[in-house]
Amino acid sequence: MKKNVLIIPFCLIILLFFSACSEETFQEDVSTENVSINNVQADEVSDTKCSTTIKSNKLKEVNPEYLRMSQLMENHAKSYVENLNRRASLGQKNVENAIEIPVVVHNLWFQQRHKFSRRAIEDQINVLTLDFNLQNPEVNNVPREFQHLKGNVNIRFRLAQVIYKKVNTRKQWRAFYWDGDLMKRPASGGSATVDPYRNLNIWVGNQDGGYAYFPGVSRDIDGIVLGHREFGVNNKNVGRVATHEVGHYLGLHHVWGPERSSNKKKSCDQDDGISDTPLTIGTPFDQCVLSRSTCGSKDMTMNFMDYTRGDCVSIFTLEQKSRMRSHFVPGGFRSQMAN
Ligand SMILES: [Zn+2]
Repeated sequence: MKKNVLIIPFCLIILLFFSACSEETFQEDVSTENVSINNVQADEVSDTKCSTTIKSNKLKEVNPEYLRMSQLMENHAKSYVENLNRRASLGQKNVENAIEIPVVVHNLWFQQRHKFSRRAIEDQINVLTLDFNLQNPEVNNVPREFQHLKGNVNIRFRLAQVIYKKVNTRKQWRAFYWDGDLMKRPASGGSATVDPYRNLNIWVGNQDGGYAYFPGVSRDIDGIVLGHREFGVNNKNVGRVATHEVGHYLGLHHVWGPERSSNKKKSCDQDDGISDTPLTIGTPFDQCVLSRSTCGSKDMTMNFMDYTRGDCVSIFTLEQKSRMRSHFVPGGFRSQMAN
């Protein structure tokens, strides 16, 4: 009897946890086009489309090697940027060659409508290339005060391989729970990583939102994951969830910093480690907010690493660009991709 008394509240807690997560995940777009919000309360910020932080933190808890390596790569990126700044102050120019990244897409599907055509997949890859080369049309909408901060990352993406894998059931790969990245494991019905030293692996499956791991992760789970609704250009995020996740894959944090807090002071006190993105508590999930101030200065809501709706984001900054490119030089986690 005593055992049952304990089990029932435990189940209730689990149910409440799952339903809370579902509410976040399925929150609908509230379309606040072009609204100006000043001094927004932090408690508006309660949702998410990206489980990178939660997955990454969880992995660091159980895998000390990821904790060690990701910190090492973080330090590497920081030193690289400091060195660039030092060189710039001496008037030395930095030559940045174009980088091409081959992409392997693992399309896990059960219903035919989730099996993307090669054309649809190429359209998604093309969005990545436009976004990483300042070639998307929304770049023209960037406010004057941020124009000089636009960073051309100069990375092109090329579709190298598509792996279609029909799964046996409607199995959902639950992005927000700790499932050990089962979609990347053939033994669990998933599709194994293809040469992650050379390729960006993208898994597209039946799940919500997207996530990536930061540089330093074990190679067998290295890559980005997107839900069917987030993949491709025919949705409200027009392919930009992929852009956001590749930002994480190349070492960027969200614009508000490592943790999104409901406490405004705490949120404004933490930073993303990038000097040219203003402090912010972040934009509410999937809203199109072009003018907003949350931490005493104008927010860069159009930054790919915010939660702004996909058709209203358009840039990485100069320092975000340098951070990402740091991983392609010797000592960086993705240096073999650039060779
Ligand atoms: Zn994210």
